[in-house]
Amino acid sequence: MKIKFLGGAEIVGKLGMLVENQGVNIMFEYGLRLIKKEPPEFPMPSPEVEGVFITHSHLDHSGAVPRLVQQFDCDVYCNDLTMDVASLLFFDSIKIAKAQGYDGILGYTDSDVKRTWQNYRSFTMGETLPIAGLEIVAHPAGHIPGAQMYEIKGHNTTLFTGDLHTENTRLTYGARPIQCDNLVIEATYAGRNHPPRPKTEALLVQRVREVVERGGTAIIPCFAVGRMQEVMLILKDLPYDMWVDGMGKTVNGYYTDHPDFLRNIKEFKAAKRRFNPVRTSSARDKAKRGQVIITTSGMLDGGPVLHYLEDQKDNAKSAVMLVGYQAENSNGRLLLDKGMVETPKGAFKVNCELMTFDLSAHADHDELLQFIEGCHPQKVVLMHSEHREELAQDLEGDYEVLMPMSGEDFEL
Ligand SMILES: [Zn+2]
Ligand SMILES: [Zn+2]
Repeated sequence: MKIKFLGGAEIVGKLGMLVENQGVNIMFEYGLRLIKKEPPEFPMPSPEVEGVFITHSHLDHSGAVPRLVQQFDCDVYCNDLTMDVASLLFFDSIKIAKAQGYDGILGYTDSDVKRTWQNYRSFTMGETLPIAGLEIVAHPAGHIPGAQMYEIKGHNTTLFTGDLHTENTRLTYGARPIQCDNLVIEATYAGRNHPPRPKTEALLVQRVREVVERGGTAIIPCFAVGRMQEVMLILKDLPYDMWVDGMGKTVNGYYTDHPDFLRNIKEFKAAKRRFNPVRTSSARDKAKRGQVIITTSGMLDGGPVLHYLEDQKDNAKSAVMLVGYQAENSNGRLLLDKGMVETPKGAFKVNCELMTFDLSAHADHDELLQFIEGCHPQKVVLMHSEHREELAQDLEGDYEVLMPMSGEDFEL
C-alpha cells in the first residue's frame, strides 16, 4: 500500500492522505486551511481517486472535498451527521470566500456541494466497506460527535485516526485503541498536556457565576461545531438568562436530528432548552441584555461575537471567556496580546476581563502515548502537528516512527 500526504502532515490544516493499492487510489480527508484575510489553502492536487473518506466535519479535514468530487466524480464516505455538518460548513465557506473575493480560489460552488451530496455514501462506525482491494472499518474517534477513525485492512492493518480524543467529554465517549500494524495518528498536542478536565469545567462555571453576580455579561466565543455544544452542556444548570448565537444553532439542530452520535441526547436536549437561540435582530438586542452569551466565531474573526464585544467593550464587569485555540493573526490572538479586536468598521479596545480555558477536544501528549501503546503498532506515522518531534522523542526505541513531509511517498 503506497501512501502520500498531499497536505497536513507537518501542519494543522489542509489534511489529505492519498492511499494507492492495486492501482486504485482512495483519499482520506481533503481539507482547507483558512487564515484570516488570506486566501484559502488546499492540499496538493490529487490524481484520480475512486472515493474519499472523511473522519469528521471540521474544515481542515473536509473543506476541499467538493473540489475532488467536481474533478473526479468520486464517492464520498462518512456518516450522516458528518455529512450534514460538513455541507453547512461548505456553504458557509462559499459565502465567506465570496465576501472576501476568494470564490475563484475556493474553486467550488453550491452546485458542487449538491453533487457531493449525490455522491455521498453513508458509512458509519461499526460498518465495513470493500474498496481498492482493501477493507475499511469505521470506529469512534472521540473528538466531536460523529468523528470516526478508519481501520484499513490489506496485507497488514493500518489505523488512520483523523482528530482523536481519548477522554470522555460531555458530548462524546473517548476513543479506544484498535490493534494495528501501522498507526497514522494526529499529534496536534504533542509536547503539551491539558489540565484535568473536571477542574477546568468547574473553573469555567465558577468564573461565569462571578461575572454574572457582579452584574456583567459572560461572552463566550466558540467554534460552531463541537465546542459550542460542549460549553452549553457545562453551563446548563446555571440559573441565568443564557443565549446562543451564530451558526452553532444549526449544528445544535443536527445534533438532535442524529441522537445516536451523542453520548447523552437527553442532557443535550436539556441544555438546548436552557439557551435562547438568537434568530432575529430584536432577539439579539435581548441577548445583549442577557447574562451569558455563547456565540461564533471562535477566533473572533467574524460572526455575531463582534456585535456583543462592541456592545460590552467598555463594561469592565463583563468578561470574554476564550475556550478554544486562538491562531496566530486571529482576532482572538490580537485580543490576548493587545486587548483589542479588528472589525470591518475599524479596530476597538475591549476593556472586559479576559479569561482562557483549555477545553480541547484533542488527546494530549500523555493520552497520545497511552493510545499508541494500546494499539501495539510496529510503525507510528505522526501527522496533523507542528510539534510532532516532541512526541517522536518519547516513541523512538519502542516503535518505528515516521514523520513524512507532505508530498513524500512511503509504503505501509
Ligand atoms: Zn477536528
Ligand atoms: Zn483537525
